[in-house]
This record gives sequence, structure tokens and C-alpha cells, in this order.
Amino acid sequence: MDLKELYRDVILDHNRHPRNFGRLESEDRGGEVLHADGHNPLCGDRLSVYVRLNGERIEDIRFEGSGCAISTASASLMTEAVKGKERAAVARLFDQVHRLLTHHDATPDAALGKLAALSGVHEFPARVKCATLSWHTLNAALEHGSATVSTE
Ligand code: ZN
Repeated sequence: MDLKELYRDVILDHNRHPRNFGRLESEDRGGEVLHADGHNPLCGDRLSVYVRLNGERIEDIRFEGSGCAISTASASLMTEAVKGKERAAVARLFDQVHRLLTHHDATPDAALGKLAALSGVHEFPARVKCATLSWHTLNAALEHGSATVSTE
């Protein structure tokens, strides 16, 4: 199996079986839940991201919504990647992911882990917004506590 097939399998797997799917309720274990809704009108992807912080660290994160395979897989991979990380580390990770999605010469950094599976998206510029929607929505939740973002 070559790398492209491996990446495709990761995307398909995370689309069929999204990790951390659902919502977080504030009353679960105390602690305020930040939440934002994201919409990508180009494709019709809609998702909501729920985050619980412990200081600067993302203690828990979930998402729900409906969209194309890329948007769902990207959101699923994102939740796995950022859980337990500090906000500053999450911002750096998004920079790396964004570069991976938009630069043909970008080779996945080892720090990206499974997020490297999104590297094939750069071949389809129209799908970049599908892949970044969950990240923009996460940023909106972290910055504003409750917000709605659109990729337009
Ligand atoms: Zn999409």
C-alpha cells in the first residue's frame, strides 16, 4: 500500500467513523463549554465544535454536523490532534495544517501525525475550505466562546 492509499483510507475511516462525534454539555463535569457553528456555503458543510478548556489546555472537544467526507474526516482528525494540547500549540498545528493544504511543495511534518492524511487535499483547491472549516470553527469557539463562522 502506498502513502496515497494509506491517506485515503484514513480519510474514509474518519468519515465513516468520526471520532469525538457529539456535543459537550456544560453540566457534564463542570467547566464552561465553548461552542461555535461553522458553515462552508461552497460545499454545504455545516458543523458545530464544542470545547472544554482547563486553563489554556483543551481538556475535551467534540463536534457534530453534516458535510462531505473531507470536512467530516478533517474535523474528526482535528479533535484527536488537539485534545490535551495547549491553545498555543493548537494555533501552531493549524498553521502547519493550513500550509499542508495549500502548498504543493509541503511535505508533512512528523508533528502532524495522522493529519498528514489531508495532504492530498492540495490537489483539489475547492476542497481546502472543507478541510479547514473545523479549524476555523474551533478558533471561533476559543476566541469568542460562542460564535458562528462562515468560510465565505
Ligand atoms: Zn465539503
